[in-house]
Amino acid sequence: MKIQLASSYGFCYGVKRAIEIAQHNPNSKTYGPLIHNKDEISRLKQNYNIDLATSIDELRPQETVIIRTHGITKDELQILKKQNNTIINATCPYVTKPQQIVEQMSKEGYSVVIFGDKDHPEIKGVYSYGQEKNTFIVNTPDDIDFGLLKSKVAVVSQTTRKPQDFEKIVNALTSRIKEVRVFNTICNATFENQDAAMELAQEADIMIVIGGKHSSNTKQLHSICKSYCKDSFLIENESEIVPQWFEGKSLCGISAGASTPDWIVQNVINTINQIA
Ligand code: SF4
Repeated sequence: MKIQLASSYGFCYGVKRAIEIAQHNPNSKTYGPLIHNKDEISRLKQNYNIDLATSIDELRPQETVIIRTHGITKDELQILKKQNNTIINATCPYVTKPQQIVEQMSKEGYSVVIFGDKDHPEIKGVYSYGQEKNTFIVNTPDDIDFGLLKSKVAVVSQTTRKPQDFEKIVNALTSRIKEVRVFNTICNATFENQDAAMELAQEADIMIVIGGKHSSNTKQLHSICKSYCKDSFLIENESEIVPQWFEGKSLCGISAGASTPDWIVQNVINTINQIA
């Protein structure tokens, strides 16, 4: 049986970069999980003595702190600076960008609309760079309160949102506001993995999707694969492989969620090679 990896799978650029930064800074703490994969978090702990702080209170003054890919708020950054923490910034550059845009546009007197989920750490961070009275988080066009907006508006998006949904927000704004500055801050990483999995699932007899059972992007990958290849299975690691799945199959496609490290993908491939 042939095994083929999707042309794009697993870690995105921002996560790969954050892991490399962490590995270069052993004996430090990450503020917030660098990645939603417990096996990788344990590997970083075991091999590099990197601990996880889930709140700012868990960080002692002067400790070395790695800032997660989704970033933190401006206030939290100030606290770390005041505490004399050594700050290693692993915020993904695609997340830093909307933070900078929101800060700049606010300074230039624009109302700023942020399309995203107000409870997501990335959006909390991006929002913190705007002026409270003139910065608004919206999830749908109906959330836009035109009465509060100035005659010039800047708009950014959460990095993981769908372009079609961002377009709806932009259209709603341009229909009522004279000057709208649109910054497309959507990151393509998630869609690249999805497109590659979809392509491979159309040819494969069996698809193995590797990732956390609770990770929304992994579940989405699995559901895309399933609609093209009925024998699509979602596993967290090689221990969940069932040899019977591969009987009579000639092409096994492999994809992995954005928080699945390569070493788990390799373990899965090695296990499949041994049984099929
Ligand atoms: S913005 Fe894109 S590249 Fe950066 S961490 Fe998020 S998904 Fe990855």
